[in-house]
Amino acid sequence: MTNTDIVITVKNVTKTYGGTKAVDDLGFSVQGATCYGLLGPNGAGKTTMMKMIYGKSQRDVDRESAISVFGYDPRGDELAIKYLSGVVPQDDNLDEELNVEQNLRIFSRFYDIPRRENKKRIEELLGFMELSEKHRSKIKALSGGMKRRLVIARALLNRPKLLILDEPTTGLDPQVRHLIWDRIRSLKKQGMTILLTTHYMEEAFQICDNVMIMDKGKRIIEGHPHALVRDNIEAYVLDVIGNDAAEKALRKVPEGMRQDRTADNARLYDNDVNRLRSVAEILKPGEFVLRQSNLEDVFLKTTGRQLHARQ
Ligand code: ATP
Repeated sequence: MTNTDIVITVKNVTKTYGGTKAVDDLGFSVQGATCYGLLGPNGAGKTTMMKMIYGKSQRDVDRESAISVFGYDPRGDELAIKYLSGVVPQDDNLDEELNVEQNLRIFSRFYDIPRRENKKRIEELLGFMELSEKHRSKIKALSGGMKRRLVIARALLNRPKLLILDEPTTGLDPQVRHLIWDRIRSLKKQGMTILLTTHYMEEAFQICDNVMIMDKGKRIIEGHPHALVRDNIEAYVLDVIGNDAAEKALRKVPEGMRQDRTADNARLYDNDVNRLRSVAEILKPGEFVLRQSNLEDVFLKTTGRQLHARQ
C-alpha cells in the first residue's frame, strides 16, 4: 500500500439519534499508510463516526451520503471490512475468565489462522506490546495500561491493513501513552493505515498526519496538525493564572494583542514572543506560562470552548 491510495472515503454522512444529530454532514478521506485523527471533546460524535466506518452503526439513509472502506460500503459489506481491519473499542472488552494468551487464542479463531502460525503471531504480538511476561496472567491482574495493550495486540491478530482505535490512551499514564504512540508510528511505517479518535490534542499532534477537529457532530477544521496551528493561530501564548494576575496583565496588554478571559485566567496571543515577554515581566513566577500555541488553542479560537473536558 502506498500512501497515494485512498483507504477511507466519507461523504455527506449524518447520524441522528432521536432529534439529535450525533454526526452532522461529515466528509473526509484517509490515505493509505497514514494516521487520521478525529479530535474533539466528549460528545462531539467521534465514536459514532468511527462506528459507521466499520459497520457497527448505520448512517442515516440519504442518497447523497457514502462511506467507502477499501472500496466496500460498511452498509452491506461489513464482513469484508472486518477482515481487513482491527478495531480497538473504547472499552477493554476482554474475557475476564481467561488469561492473556487465551484471550488472543479465542479471538484468532474468527480468522482461521493455522495453529502453528497463530502461536507464532501471538508470541510476536505479546512481545510487540511488551506483554510477554504476562502471557499467563488473568485479566483481573492486569493494569489499565496492560489491558489496553492487550486489546491492541488482539486487534492486530489478523494482520489488518486498517487499525481503528477509539481513544487509545484515555486514562493511561504518560509512560504507557508514549509506548502506544510509538507502536502506532511503527505500524504506520509498516504500511498500516490508522484511524483514531482522541480528545487529547497532544496525541493528535504527536501521531496524526491529518486531523479533523469536530464539535457537536460538525467538522470545525481539518488538516495536518502542525499546519492547523501555523495557519490558524498566533505562534505564542501567555497563560496568565489567577484572577489578580489576569487583571494585572490585561492592564498591560499592548494594542492589537488578542486576549481570552475566563473566570480565573487570561490567555494572551501574539506572533511576537517579545511582546508577550514584556507583559510577563510584570507578573510573578507561578502567575504565568509562556509557550508555543497548540491545537487546544485552535479549538478554543474556533469554538469558544475548551477541548479538554477530562484527563
Ligand atoms: P466520547 O469522547 O464521550 O466518546 P464522542 O465524540 O465519541 O464522545 P459520541 O459517543 O459519538 O461522541 O456521541 C455523540 C452524541 O451522540 C452524544 O450526544 C451522545 O449522547 C449521542 N449518542 C451516541 N450513541 C448514542 C446512542 N446509541 N443512542 C442515543 N444517543 C447516542
